[in-house]
Amino acid sequence: MNEFHPPRRILLGPGPSDADNRVLSALSAPLVGHLDPEFLKVMDDIQSLLRYVFETQNKLTIPISGTGSAGMEAAFVNLVEPGDSVVVCVNGVFGERMSDIVGRCGGTLTRVEAEWGASFDLDQIRNALKKTHAPILAVVHAETSTGVLTSLSKIRQVLDEFPETLFLLDCVTSLGGHPVEIDRYQVDFAYSGTQKCLSCPPGLAPITLSEKAVSVLRRRKSKVRSWYLDLTMVEKYWGEERTYHHTAPISMNYALREALRIVQEEGLENRWARHHLNHRALVAGVEAMGLAMLCKPEDRLWSLNTIRIPEKVSDAKVRTKLLQDFGIEIGGGLGPLKNKIWRVGLMGSSSNRNNVLLFLNALEQVLSEQGMSLERGAAVEAAMNVYCT
Ligand SMILES: *Cc1c(COP(=O)(O)O)cnc(C)c1O
Repeated sequence: MNEFHPPRRILLGPGPSDADNRVLSALSAPLVGHLDPEFLKVMDDIQSLLRYVFETQNKLTIPISGTGSAGMEAAFVNLVEPGDSVVVCVNGVFGERMSDIVGRCGGTLTRVEAEWGASFDLDQIRNALKKTHAPILAVVHAETSTGVLTSLSKIRQVLDEFPETLFLLDCVTSLGGHPVEIDRYQVDFAYSGTQKCLSCPPGLAPITLSEKAVSVLRRRKSKVRSWYLDLTMVEKYWGEERTYHHTAPISMNYALREALRIVQEEGLENRWARHHLNHRALVAGVEAMGLAMLCKPEDRLWSLNTIRIPEKVSDAKVRTKLLQDFGIEIGGGLGPLKNKIWRVGLMGSSSNRNNVLLFLNALEQVLSEQGMSLERGAAVEAAMNVYCT
């Protein structure tokens, strides 16, 4: 068996995004022990950088070992006790996944639903909270399966009427790409992942808990049902005690530290502006090609763009061609959107002008080969107009 040499892809799917070379080098640094004084410094740096990207003062701000879904599971398993009522907003795969986990935790689930590709009716959320007096409302900020952004300020407005209810937020595809502002919107438990807009390999799930969420954790009547994700124990390793719980994934923490340093060097505002600009250029190009976006303009994510697949075009053929001929990965639709949309991620390092122009050009080429008649060059020109104004 030979050494594995992965091809160089351009990752424009729903994640992972391209990691910066600095992050990849950090992964190959020598190992130290998980209680080595030098590693403890790395942990402190990561906590302080995470507070910066989450825009929070929360003390309990750490990376969970595991991907974004481990962060999701950590949120529910730590905050929900059997019989607790939880309202989950569902308009895509990740709201569905939250609902599944609530059931596994023994919670009593109330779903507020919106069509996949659309945003929520706030009155439905309000009514669900009135009816259930649920101590937790769970929301996906950036629904990666549909490209819909949920407005945090609007959710906050509703929650202001229910001061007892905890605000649980999935910001896996928004952190580092869109403003998240944990303290401003008084989010009580937020989790993210490393491989989306933070452009680090998959493997850690940054989380942050408000004082209110920590006090719910302390007041639990029963033990957290997951040993691995039990924050009452994990926090002792990240806190002053430095008590061994499980071996920290050393190299992943090096990589996250470097990825967060890159975010800080760019500055959050600049990073959001970059994601916004590349999104606008992509949409202009897509529309110039005569294709349509799935979501309404005001609901669109900058980090994940969903394009309706034109009739008579083969989803699989286009994606295979993009990968084989151009080295570009994009995602297909899931669930009810299977074969209906493409999902084009412009996350972290992957969100740049070269990628947008290359993708538009490649898509135009591939669609022409599929028999669509297109005005060649129109997409790139429309995108360039966005960059030049
Ligand atoms: C990717 C993603 C997750 C899950 O993360 P994994 O790293 O795949 O476990 C959860 N929520 C959202 C919104 C995501 O995009």
